Amino acid sequence: MKLRPAPPNFGVRFRRMDLGRHPAVVAHAHHVVNTSLATSIGSNGTTVSTIEHLMAAIYVSGIDNLLIELDGPEVPIFDGSAAPFLDILREAGIKEQSAQRQCMIITRPILLRDGDAFVKATPAQHFQVRYTIDFPHPLVGRQTLLWSFNETSFGREIARARTFGFLKDVQKLQSHGLAQGGSLANAVVFDEYGILNKDGFRYIDECVRHKILDFMGDLALAGKPMIGCFEVHKAGHALHTAFIKKLVSLPGHHSLSTPACVPATFFPFTAPPSICGSNPTFS
Ligand SMILES: [Zn+2]
Repeated sequence: MKLRPAPPNFGVRFRRMDLGRHPAVVAHAHHVVNTSLATSIGSNGTTVSTIEHLMAAIYVSGIDNLLIELDGPEVPIFDGSAAPFLDILREAGIKEQSAQRQCMIITRPILLRDGDAFVKATPAQHFQVRYTIDFPHPLVGRQTLLWSFNETSFGREIARARTFGFLKDVQKLQSHGLAQGGSLANAVVFDEYGILNKDGFRYIDECVRHKILDFMGDLALAGKPMIGCFEVHKAGHALHTAFIKKLVSLPGHHSLSTPACVPATFFPFTAPPSICGSNPTFS
């Protein structure tokens, strides 16, 4: 994988260097084609998969324009977290460009539900995510985290959280020829009672932190920084991306703004106290 600078208004695009004529796919919610194990995008028969951890690092770094060249159909997994991507972006440096940034401001509540799983967004003056997971495993169980963005909070609190899975699911996937590269080097793996990784967790609630990482990577497919409060309950890539498609296609529920204070970093503010709305009316 190579990351190359791109001009203003280029967006984030993946280019398949292993295919003739080097076709590109724009990283946008409308191009999501598969969410079964990871988030995949595609157009005109060209696909790129497992984009979400890289997209999260790009998004929180405030990068709007980037060309990503790949020599295969998948973004490298590294250690299953976003930390390696965040590190190379920091190392390369980020250049401010002349075009004005636009934010997407949630103006009316929006909800998407699938059984007891849901994603909702409510208007707020800042950006926050409250994520809840519930897995019937003694080391996971129910975990809720309210996470606010500021310039360092992603790197400190979210970026190092790894993908996780359960041994019985991994074995089933591998017997079907999937997750062939999956190992303890790039995932937290649980058996029935415990964790197989001998160094244990990186964060005690690493699983919910990784779900926030995944959500940020999927939210990046809206193409703009967000101002709003997001609450996510027992969701995954399928519901995340369906929600983001709904959000970008409902112009009455958000407005675009180019506040003078939008800096070259992700969002134009620092973490506030909890501001998730109450009793909103959904549509
Ligand atoms: Zn993930």
